[in-house]
Amino acid sequence: MSDHNQQAVARYHNDFLKEVENHVEDGEWVKMCMQCGVCAGSCPLGDAWQHTPQKLFMMIRAGKREEVLTSDSMWMCTSCYNCIVRCPRKLPITHIMHGLASYAHRLNLAPKGQPTREIAILFWKNLAKTGRVNELKFSLAMYFKDGFVQGIKNALAMQGVGLGLVKAKRLNPMELFGGHKCKDTGGLRKMIAKAREIEDRKKGFTQ
Ligand code: SF4
Ligand code: SF4
Repeated sequence: MSDHNQQAVARYHNDFLKEVENHVEDGEWVKMCMQCGVCAGSCPLGDAWQHTPQKLFMMIRAGKREEVLTSDSMWMCTSCYNCIVRCPRKLPITHIMHGLASYAHRLNLAPKGQPTREIAILFWKNLAKTGRVNELKFSLAMYFKDGFVQGIKNALAMQGVGLGLVKAKRLNPMELFGGHKCKDTGGLRKMIAKAREIEDRKKGFTQ
């Protein structure tokens, strides 16, 4: 094979597409995208996105690994499913977006301080502890995520809403000292650990 042909083959060989196919939920669908732009036009967040799904899929195929995995766009997906129902190639776009976000997070490449990512992490930590979301602890974690002083400012700014919720019996201050939980929290944690182990094995995740 001539040097020119070898270079052409090297350019065509796309490791990042393979990586996405092997490690990202439903990543094997990315190569089916025909770049029609329907998903980009259907997404309610539209122009607010740094990279639309269409653009992300094009970048994956072009091998733009860092640009894709550090993008904040996957974290903006609201799971409205508009794109999925309209994609002429039936790509599971929403699942791929969340799969990319999860993969970037596990590689520690996801953008730090991205608000929806922070909410997702705090929500999951709260939920996974007891199997039930503790609204009071979750709200406090949100208020104090940027430090103690900011947390006090946030709590004071929201005190009217908090007191209103307590009065309407929608928020129980006693939740701070334990709160409701599922019957077998130990079993729940084992189940989550097992699910992660199975997922890692399935996707050959080694990091
Ligand atoms: S609608 Fe489907 S085929 Fe069209 S650009 Fe989006 S993902 Fe690709
Ligand atoms: S599911 Fe996500 S990517 Fe698809 S249209 Fe809705 S917000 Fe956009």
